[in-house]
Amino acid sequence: MNVLVINAGSSSLKYQLLNPASGELLAKGLCERIGIDGKFTYKPQVAGKQTLDAIDVAMPTHAEAIEAVLNALVDEKNGVIASMSEIDAVGHRVVHGGEKFASSVVITDEVMDAIYECNPLAPLHNPANLIGIRACQAKMPGVPMVAVFDTAFHQTMPPKAFTYAIPYEYYQKDKMRRYGFHGTSHRYVSQRCAEILGKPIEELKIVSCHLGNGSSITAVDGGKSVDTSMGLTPLAGLPMGTRSGDMDAGIMEYLMKQYNLSMDEMMTILNKKSGVLGISGVSSDFRDLDDAAAEGNQRAALAVEVFAYKVRKMIGEYAAAMGGVDAVIFTAGVGENSADLRLRFVDGLQFMGISIDPEKNNFRGEERIVSPEGSPVKVLVIPTNEELMIAKDTAELVG
Ligand code: AMP
Repeated sequence: MNVLVINAGSSSLKYQLLNPASGELLAKGLCERIGIDGKFTYKPQVAGKQTLDAIDVAMPTHAEAIEAVLNALVDEKNGVIASMSEIDAVGHRVVHGGEKFASSVVITDEVMDAIYECNPLAPLHNPANLIGIRACQAKMPGVPMVAVFDTAFHQTMPPKAFTYAIPYEYYQKDKMRRYGFHGTSHRYVSQRCAEILGKPIEELKIVSCHLGNGSSITAVDGGKSVDTSMGLTPLAGLPMGTRSGDMDAGIMEYLMKQYNLSMDEMMTILNKKSGVLGISGVSSDFRDLDDAAAEGNQRAALAVEVFAYKVRKMIGEYAAAMGGVDAVIFTAGVGENSADLRLRFVDGLQFMGISIDPEKNNFRGEERIVSPEGSPVKVLVIPTNEELMIAKDTAELVG
């Protein structure tokens, strides 16, 4: 069985064709500048097939983007399947499922309506996800499709974790609550963690740290998300590449009055000009910050310090929330690749049984246990694979 996994944004669309049973990746790629001109990238993973790198393909809408993907996959010379009939199902990443979706679902007209109703909660993402689904439905009639939500894994959070301390009617009327994101990633790595440790996930208390350009930490107790750092939107929690993470809401009032900022301008500052970019003034990329700090840039060093300090505090916070911790996972760009930062995240947590063996830790991008032999809390690096999780959900739901 082959599943096409689609992650549609407003002007881009990422895709992978993979076999969910074996995990084999057949091809992946990206459509960019949809609605502008159109750039198409295709990376077949089969020997002898040629890569296309950001070539010009007209993409006035997402429909042409999907068409380009399908044409490339079945292309006589560089395709990886003989015909469209070898695509058994499509799995779509959908950002916000609100309180309506606690798991992945087969897409029906009712599901499309329910996703549409979640649009106000993710106005930049959900409409694009819907456009991607409709484009696929038009080009692939009869092929079953599944929606996999970033928020769904966190729907097991109890009210004490998801309720904001603002007048309760804003939850009742407007659904203002913590939803959390990166759910597919946290679910994947926590399942892999249980497999690697050879223990039933029901018996494990895990702190899952997804640390990339966007970052979130989740407390996974018995396989269920019980708390997570992102909130109503992905702006909350840790400081990120360009997002502020948690801060005093009073800062907004002060800055908006002081500089006569509109709400849109304020939100652009918090989403795009804050985080480690905002503190350092150098970059949102941790590799650049490391280089700048090594050259003596104090603000770059401070930005990394603020980030690492917050990660460390939150590991402690979630261990406290669960009344213990058996495993800590590091994943995503920073978590998978930065040996140095991993050491800094757990520095000072030895009192809780959390530590990393520096020699075991000296690598990037692989699945490994990095805590010392016999350590009470296991620390693992697990490269995330949201596409495989989406493909597996899709295969399970369409049978
Ligand atoms: P992601 O959003 O998961 O793709 O993560 C992207 C981020 O990972 C980049 O912006 C970098 O900050 C970070 N990253 C990738 N490789 C490294 C590395 N070797 N050292 C430190 N940070 C890295």
